[in-house]
Amino acid sequence: MESMIRRDPVEAAEWTFDLTIIGGGIYGVCALLEAGQAGLRALLVEKDDFGGATSWNSLRIVHGGLRYLQKMDYVRLRESVRERRWFLRQFPQWVQPLPCLMPLYGRGLRRPGIMAAAVRANDLLSWDRNQGLPDAWRLPAGGVVNNREILRRFPLVRQKNLKGGATWHDGKMICSQRVLMEILHRACRLGGRALNYMPAEEVVTEHGGVAALRCRDGVFDCERTFRTQAVLNCAGPWSRPLAKQLGLDEPGIFHPSLAFNLLLDCDPLSQSALAIESAEPGGRTYFTLPWNGRTLVGTEHLPAEDNTPDAAVTGAQVQTMLDNLNAAVPGWNVESSQIMRIYSGLLPAKQAGSDEITVRPVAIDHHERGGPRGLVSVCGVKFTTARLVAERAVKMIMKRAGLTRRPAVQPQGDEVMPGLDLVDPRPILEDNLSLGTREAVRQLARQEAVIRADDLVFRRTDWGADKRQAEAVLSRVRTILRD
Ligand SMILES: Cc1cc2nc3c(=O)[nH]c(=O)nc-3n(C[C@H](O)[C@H](O)[C@H](O)COP(=O)(O)OP(=O)(O)OC[C@H]3O[C@@H](n4cnc5c(N)ncnc54)[C@H](O)[C@@H]3O)c2cc1C
Repeated sequence: MESMIRRDPVEAAEWTFDLTIIGGGIYGVCALLEAGQAGLRALLVEKDDFGGATSWNSLRIVHGGLRYLQKMDYVRLRESVRERRWFLRQFPQWVQPLPCLMPLYGRGLRRPGIMAAAVRANDLLSWDRNQGLPDAWRLPAGGVVNNREILRRFPLVRQKNLKGGATWHDGKMICSQRVLMEILHRACRLGGRALNYMPAEEVVTEHGGVAALRCRDGVFDCERTFRTQAVLNCAGPWSRPLAKQLGLDEPGIFHPSLAFNLLLDCDPLSQSALAIESAEPGGRTYFTLPWNGRTLVGTEHLPAEDNTPDAAVTGAQVQTMLDNLNAAVPGWNVESSQIMRIYSGLLPAKQAGSDEITVRPVAIDHHERGGPRGLVSVCGVKFTTARLVAERAVKMIMKRAGLTRRPAVQPQGDEVMPGLDLVDPRPILEDNLSLGTREAVRQLARQEAVIRADDLVFRRTDWGADKRQAEAVLSRVRTILRD
């Protein structure tokens, strides 16, 4: 039997769930998995499609936490090391070691001596980073390299004042959608239910506690009520508006800031990810990484209006980023015509109107603030640490709602993936598509609750990454699904 993510709201409405999770981004799907492992009967509702919001827009780096050394935040560093290992171990097909290189110009802490000590400390603090990993996935120790070596790895490096470079390894998601969908499969194999196109609208309470969640079924255009003892709000940038809609405004849940990356149609600058300082002192450090033959670069952070769910980026903001990149890498000359896609999203800022990202996840028990028992909102900062934050949030809500741990059910169904390249769209665009390929596309659609062709092109695969090709792929997939 194949593993299935079945969209069956009628069946779900017959159950009484222990826990219902709002939001099908990485935090929500990890919470569904954690709930399944705790033996809970759990449901996830997503207003659009799974993983289509912030989680779709990340830079796809699974961070080990070297940056947290700067603030001597060892707890966060250790958490990141463990979570990076989890991703590398659980999804070797989709998460790979990523060599990283940072050219040093001797500014502030970025001096070869200091960086050598930092990278060494990072290696010591991540002594167990390779536990349980196959040889090819092991992350080697970092170090400091000389200018010649940097030039060899990154020929366009800005050479004025170059003082060597630091090296280390992180993880890279080749296709973050697949990581999210694989987690969702595992959660459903443990008995979890997941319904896309199902916006949550109202928490129904009885005797001061959560009793049900009322949703709007976006496919059948009708109301659905799911009985549940607890609700976990994992709605990311919508977590505050959603809490407000439920009558519980909590400004501290999420102050939005805008963040975006660019996918560029140009050869990678290096086989390593590069941490490139802006030419201007005090400017941002950008990351470029080779990604399926192209270059992904980010992340630009900007303030956003408080309470906005809008992550749109203006042409002027993009141009400023391109100018900064061209100043930082003379001779690169990237132009807006090379942009294949802008990945943008909202991240939690330290305060309203700031572009500085919060350090810690937020978890709020609404019962402590006058809301019903069994309603918790959680909002994290990184894809990398989503599983850990979700694990803690599920434990918290179990305690607050009086839910007890049970043995997890025996996983149902096998992980059988159709024989398709889920990253490269070219085979799908070939003139004479084989019957086998058509059937494999339909199988993927059946297995993963695909409602519309764009679910499959953007959120089950990376076939739509190049926006110039996406329309042709969509049209082809529509035809296959219609057949
Ligand atoms: C540009 C950028 C680069 C980044 N780079 C990295 C990186 O390299 N590494 C890293 O670790 N992290 C990175 N991040 C951070 C990471 O992507 C986020 O922390 C993470 O994806 C947030 O996930 P989430 O589940 O909280 O939010 P989302 O993915 O936004 O999910 C929330 C979901 O809730 C749904 N929802 C909202 N309201 C309702 C409702 N009423 N009913 C039902 N569903 C609802 C939404 O539709 C959405 O799907 C980056 C983020 C950005 C924006």
